[in-house]
Amino acid sequence: MLLEGKNAIVTGASRGIGRAIALELASLGANVACVSRSLDSLQETIQGVIALGRKAQGYALDVANTDAVDKAVEQISQDFGTLDILVNNAGVTRDTLMMRMSEQDWDFVLDTNLKGAFNWIKPVTRTMIRQRSGTVVNIASVVGLIGNAGQVNYSASKAGLIGLTKSVAREVASRGITVNVVCPGFIETDMTKELSEEVRKKVLEQIPLKRFGQATDIAKMVSFLCSPHSTFITGQTFTVDGGMVMS
Ligand code: NAP
Repeated sequence: MLLEGKNAIVTGASRGIGRAIALELASLGANVACVSRSLDSLQETIQGVIALGRKAQGYALDVANTDAVDKAVEQISQDFGTLDILVNNAGVTRDTLMMRMSEQDWDFVLDTNLKGAFNWIKPVTRTMIRQRSGTVVNIASVVGLIGNAGQVNYSASKAGLIGLTKSVAREVASRGITVNVVCPGFIETDMTKELSEEVRKKVLEQIPLKRFGQATDIAKMVSFLCSPHSTFITGQTFTVDGGMVMS
């Protein structure tokens, strides 16, 4: 029970990678504050965490709404006590070629994926600084490293998250707080379900390990970064993609 007694916040915990992260952290002993835009969508994750013998509570809000996040952080502190782990996983896509991309497409993705993470990191690390301990893991993407046609907004948001991670890591390291970023490759979730067979085939050809990732592949990396096994690691970018991107 590496995370016994720890309290974690996981955004985008209603399905896919976020749900897998919430359950993995709970299986290692953590209590989990689960965040998404609706309480209904969080029920399965909450029940899963409770079934593992841990405390879970849902918080419904838009991560892009700064006031709503501030209020939620206050409420989570009251409900749970210490804030030990923050996983910024909530994310959206609005894919189209740049020439067709509207200002709304740009703002929606940047506001959720990048500003959303900043909104959580600021108040949560304020508490972690007082505690003199804590760990933050941001979920970016391989396209934040290499770019992708049709995802100018999304790849910019994820590249921004990588820069944000490194800067915050430098600002809070002296207070015993680690901040890292995980870049998933192609993971089978609702986000990738919509892609055509043709696109899936093309992607698979680029994965040396010859399979798509599962949400648990990302959850295992996140739990390592939240565990006592990784206390000397901060400001780092971890690619979990079956070997698709090698640097
Ligand atoms: P998903 O199945 O679409 O789930 C997205 C999660 O984010 C849901 O829980 C959703 O909750 C939540 N969410 C979205 N907008 C939100 C907002 N404004 N406020 C609060 N919650 C919000 O996505 P996924 O595939 O699990 O992806 C999770 C993360 O991994 C994302 O950051 C994504 O960019 C990243 N990623 C995924 C892949 C992949 O291949 N799947 C690859 C690279 C990176 P509700 O809809 O219930 O509100």
